Amino acid sequence: MSASDAEAVAVLSAGGLVILPTETVYGLAADAGDARAVAAIFEAKGRPRFNPLIAHVADAVQAGAVAVFDGRAQALAEAFWPGPLTIVAPVRDRTGVCDLARAGLDSVAVRVPGHARARALISAFGRPLVAPSANRSGRPSPTTFADAVEETGFAAGAALDGGACAVGVESTVVSVLDGRVTLLRPGSVTREELEAVVGPLDRGGEGHRSPGRLTLHYAPDAPVRIEAQTVRDGEILLGFGPGAGDPRWSLSPSGDLREAAANLFRRLREADRERPSGIAVSPIPAQGLGEAINDRLRRAAGFVG
Ligand code: AMP
Ligand code: MG
Repeated sequence: MSASDAEAVAVLSAGGLVILPTETVYGLAADAGDARAVAAIFEAKGRPRFNPLIAHVADAVQAGAVAVFDGRAQALAEAFWPGPLTIVAPVRDRTGVCDLARAGLDSVAVRVPGHARARALISAFGRPLVAPSANRSGRPSPTTFADAVEETGFAAGAALDGGACAVGVESTVVSVLDGRVTLLRPGSVTREELEAVVGPLDRGGEGHRSPGRLTLHYAPDAPVRIEAQTVRDGEILLGFGPGAGDPRWSLSPSGDLREAAANLFRRLREADRERPSGIAVSPIPAQGLGEAINDRLRRAAGFVG
């Protein structure tokens, strides 16, 4: 059952964990400044401690208290917040987002979520919340309330139902450090949209400065086969576009990337429950939001890069 915001604030204030809806995926939230609460998140998720968490704040003013934003970070915040963009910048306040939450780094990841219920809870609590995806580490992210409760409900003192997640993949992560803007994780704010605001992104450090990118991710129990042209015996095909397999399992029958992103983790979970010999996925275009979808699929298929 869904808790009230007041119940959730009480749980957070006592150092407990709360299942929190966001527009990307469901999160497992705690007071970012409470090292014991943050430790409980790593424990519940089975998440390696070298993988830092994102501080979720109510607005750009609260973000400015946590991190040091240069002109380009500010331009990105203005263009995409509230919304599914996480900005990694030098840390300003080392206590508001504790060392464990930052994995001991001198930088901090910050985001203002687009989901009104998430912002309302952060405002009511008054301090930043860390809120990694509410799945156990290495499993697909939950995009519905029921999936979130199934994954980490055992560790949460309260759970807020905010409906199905509209975006369905985790936030885009960019770092703005030493004057360079680098895409660390593709998401629904696309490379093209970022470059329209800050110009060409730095390609040098891509993928190497985000510790969380080193671990296997998003994998269901069944093996996942990507860019599948045909279906093998016992496999379920997650299609994309007209005529690609059973429409019931399609990521998007019309070939729409936003719809495919919103359906991605839910379909992987649903397919997995059928205990197929494998999950095959149709080719997805590489551009725009397709970059994030293909990134998650490659990880689900076991290609860690
Ligand atoms: P998650 O909470 O699972 O959505 O993952 C957060 C992502 O942000 C992971 O890929 C982290 O590695 C990345 N991240 C968080 N903080 C930092 C940081 N200070 N520097 C680089 N990457 C970060
Ligand atoms: Mg995650």
